[in-house]
Amino acid sequence: MTKQTEHTLSSKHLFIQKIIQKKCMRIFCMHVFSMSCLAILLFAATSHNALATTDPPRENLVPGGIAVVPISKVHTILTPHVTYNNRRVMVLDGKFIWYAVVGISLAAKPGQHELRIDRADGKIKIKTFTVKPKKYEAQHITLKDKRKVNPYKKDLTRIKKEKKLISSAFQSWRNDVPSETLFTLPVEGRLSSPFGLRRFFNKQARKPHSGIDIAAPKGAPIKAPAGGEILRTGNYFFNGNSVFIDHGQGLVTMYCHMDKIDVKVGQQVKQGEAIGKVGMTGRVTGPHVHWSVSINDTRVDPNLFFPETIETALAKKAKLN
Ligand SMILES: [Zn+2]
Repeated sequence: MTKQTEHTLSSKHLFIQKIIQKKCMRIFCMHVFSMSCLAILLFAATSHNALATTDPPRENLVPGGIAVVPISKVHTILTPHVTYNNRRVMVLDGKFIWYAVVGISLAAKPGQHELRIDRADGKIKIKTFTVKPKKYEAQHITLKDKRKVNPYKKDLTRIKKEKKLISSAFQSWRNDVPSETLFTLPVEGRLSSPFGLRRFFNKQARKPHSGIDIAAPKGAPIKAPAGGEILRTGNYFFNGNSVFIDHGQGLVTMYCHMDKIDVKVGQQVKQGEAIGKVGMTGRVTGPHVHWSVSINDTRVDPNLFFPETIETALAKKAKLN
């Protein structure tokens, strides 16, 4: 081999080597690029999970309704601390805005109401919303068991004790954001008593109906309308066998008059998971579930957690069966 050919060969070799190097580099770059993309996607997915956005329930600015109040436009990692009548209020992440979800009491007076926002910088901000008047219908119920209308003295001691337990359950607060604010039906049946009715038992005025009643056959399953943690179970004078679910951020739901309780305190439940069976324990005229939905320790209309009314949802379910 001459020196000339040797030189050509080695330069050819070098040329091929360069091409291979370039190709390798390109493959490496593509690999790095795709890995970065994957990392970005993974980061986006996890950070989205950490700052998951939740749609609020429907707003209805009446007693027993819900106010959805924008709190701050600037998105900060720290959730603003919001209170209404000295009670902590649910704050949800709406992508570019924080908003407070406020339960309005059935006893709330129409007019302007104030929310207090304690900012991270120590400043206090006040936001207002206006409550419109609403007159709920009256309902007269006749109970054969007169003891459930005018309880005995020994019953009153039990009722007083239970009232405290029930109130403390509704006051529960966990920072966890509810996994769902759009509910599924807790039971299939007929809406037998709507929310907010002004009630009279054997012609005597009692507290308004702070939940809804769904009549269903004894033994029908009761399912969690949203994920959460079993907060309390028990048997109460008026409410019978009951279950409380804590969904987080002050959202607590209660199921009463159950025949059987199938969950334990501390148990985590998913949306649609069975928690017990329909019964007629406590103050009832027939088998049904009394269902209460509470936010900031205020019982609100459960209809607001459905895109349509509960009655429509129940009718649709009945048609499917
Ligand atoms: Zn009821």
